[in-house]
Amino acid sequence: SIILGIESSCDDTSAAIISGSKILSNIAANQAIHNEYGGVVPELASRAHQQNIIPVVEKAFSKANIQQNDICAIGFTRGPGLLGSLLVGTSFAKSLAMSLDVPLIEVNHLQAHILAHFIDDANPTPPTFPFLCLTVSGGHTMIVLVKDYFDMEIIGKTIDDAAGEAFDKIGKIFDLDYPAGPIIDKLAKEGNPDAFQFNKPRMENYDYSFSGIKTSVLYFIQKEVRKNPDFIKENLNNLCASVQRSIIEILMNKLEKASVDLNIKEVAIAGGVSANSVLRKAMEINQEKLGWNIFIPKFEYTTDNAAMIAIVAKLKYERGEFTDIRTTATAKYDL
Ligand code: ATP
Ligand code: FE
Repeated sequence: SIILGIESSCDDTSAAIISGSKILSNIAANQAIHNEYGGVVPELASRAHQQNIIPVVEKAFSKANIQQNDICAIGFTRGPGLLGSLLVGTSFAKSLAMSLDVPLIEVNHLQAHILAHFIDDANPTPPTFPFLCLTVSGGHTMIVLVKDYFDMEIIGKTIDDAAGEAFDKIGKIFDLDYPAGPIIDKLAKEGNPDAFQFNKPRMENYDYSFSGIKTSVLYFIQKEVRKNPDFIKENLNNLCASVQRSIIEILMNKLEKASVDLNIKEVAIAGGVSANSVLRKAMEINQEKLGWNIFIPKFEYTTDNAAMIAIVAKLKYERGEFTDIRTTATAKYDL
């Protein structure tokens, strides 16, 4: 089966062609327009999707060396995400499916982040069920018990900010561009992770909270900057390393607890924050220390991409799960 996948839930317009479980092309247009605003501006995002979608899809076809008539279905992100952004991909997918007379397949963006592990070049061997997946992105932070492809249970989640959001908001305090996650990761490499201590939340069960650390960084910075206006500049690497260390420790503690309690050693990470080098390292350490069988996505399958949409569409295609052409996008969409 050859399927076109389309992703437009946030600020990346992406299209991918999959043949079986093999990705033939995975094209993305990033929207630099949001960098200076310190976050995604929904109005600007949907306008940029409208400009990008046709060239991105055309490029996906040409890179894959596939004709439009060769595809047997179109998968698209129906939600969750920004409604205006989702509508662009959804409308485009619907009209192309109609004109090519192929079935339409809706995809849940969060399921896609997780099921990206089943793309054939994602892992030497895919995870076996049941496995745990720490799903960490700009909008979500949760531990998912994956019992089967389409049987997932959220066993813990953030009660306030997502981990990626914490990176981005703390980065904004440091006057870094959006998204700050990858910038903090890079700056942290030259810093001391033990330089500063920030409050860690004490949460029950497997839930997370990241607004406390953000506030604690903000107050700390305000206090220090009053004494020394150049405090951030002079300590940027150490600040980034310390913040990153705290966030990753919070993430890993709960994941380790879940693994022990449920006695599951197949452990994956997914979503934009799974690109983080310290999180990846922590997973590798647990492979040694706790005997985990770990699954770390390739970089191109961490942040938003259409390859992950295409693999879910392929799995649904095999199950004959198609979507009515009258479907609409949905900002909220449970796992
Ligand atoms: P969702 O998937 O919840 O709808 P989203 O699609 O906006 O949210 P992703 O594209 O999956 O999120 O991830 C983007 C987030 O990942 C941003 O918050 C970004 O800062 C973060 N991120 C990307 N790379 C890194 C990194 N190396 N370290 C930390 N965070 C990172
Ligand atoms: Fe995402």
